Amino acid sequence: MEDRKDFPQVFVYGPPGSEQGAAEDLARKLVDLDIIAPLVVQSTFGEALGARIRTPLPHVVPVPQANQEWAATLGSRTRRLGADAIVAIGGGRCLDIAKLAAARAGVTVIAVPTQLSHDGICSPVAVVPAQGACGESIGAIAPRVVYLSIPTLLSSPLGAVRAGLGDLLANPLALKDWELAAGRGLESIDQRAWNLSVESFKSIESYLAADVAKSARDPRFLIRLADGLVLSGMAMVCAGNSRPASGGEHEISHAIDHLFGGRALHGAQVAFGCLLSTELYGEDTQGFRARLARLGLPQHPGDLGLSEDDMVKILLAAPYMRPGRFTVLEDTDLDESGSRALLERIWT
Ligand SMILES: [Zn+2]
Repeated sequence: MEDRKDFPQVFVYGPPGSEQGAAEDLARKLVDLDIIAPLVVQSTFGEALGARIRTPLPHVVPVPQANQEWAATLGSRTRRLGADAIVAIGGGRCLDIAKLAAARAGVTVIAVPTQLSHDGICSPVAVVPAQGACGESIGAIAPRVVYLSIPTLLSSPLGAVRAGLGDLLANPLALKDWELAAGRGLESIDQRAWNLSVESFKSIESYLAADVAKSARDPRFLIRLADGLVLSGMAMVCAGNSRPASGGEHEISHAIDHLFGGRALHGAQVAFGCLLSTELYGEDTQGFRARLARLGLPQHPGDLGLSEDDMVKILLAAPYMRPGRFTVLEDTDLDESGSRALLERIWT
């Protein structure tokens, strides 16, 4: 068993119970943790859960265009107000803004995700746009506590659940990429981080053949998915970077964001990226496609509104998305005709 004393505490409320019950429980939990003046950062979906928190400080709702500068200003404000923590209640964007602001303010973060759409819930990385640009992964702090309200998560959108599974599909491929880079002497493997990433994928593996719409309404599945996402985040904490959970498939997703402004949730784009890595590793691509189709994740460029020419641009741009990260994409070093040949092998 891993030594997990430096891991975040994870609290699960329900089932049964209501969101109102969770709101009261969360407020009590903060008092138990000696948090008496938190700054609550919440999305509109997080309003009900944050309603019972006792704090002399205001509740803040991030503006839709909140970027790194906005997060830095929030961090300064957090410090000036004398907050002893930031409680972030909402989706990925809200949590990421809070992680960045907390790093600036030097306070801890309590993450209260209202959906389980990616492994950033608990990672030390925040994806927040720079001014006038699209999302950029930057180092932040990992939450000290993750609070899961099952009544809230049971009513989260199905697309978010699919994306959460999609983000975890990356882990086995990210590990292959890590091994590839280590084999070239470019990196060394942190065994503890590696094991956590393996364990993270295992926590959801048995659900990959199930009907997601049914799973999404099953509290046991939601706890497994949350576990997987938290473990994946912890693997990144251990490694000190996103290596254990992010390889070529993430570079593909970043290239889609960069060139086309994002076509689906992060986890859905990552799952699609996995398909390309799977083919580059010479594995069962058609089996993987069928898995994506079953999970309701994009398995064809058309599902993301992308043409063959768009895909070529993406494949050529992907290696530039994370300079210094060596993956199967850099190893294959595709040019335009290589990219077209790859696309043909998968989709004809
Ligand atoms: Zn991801």
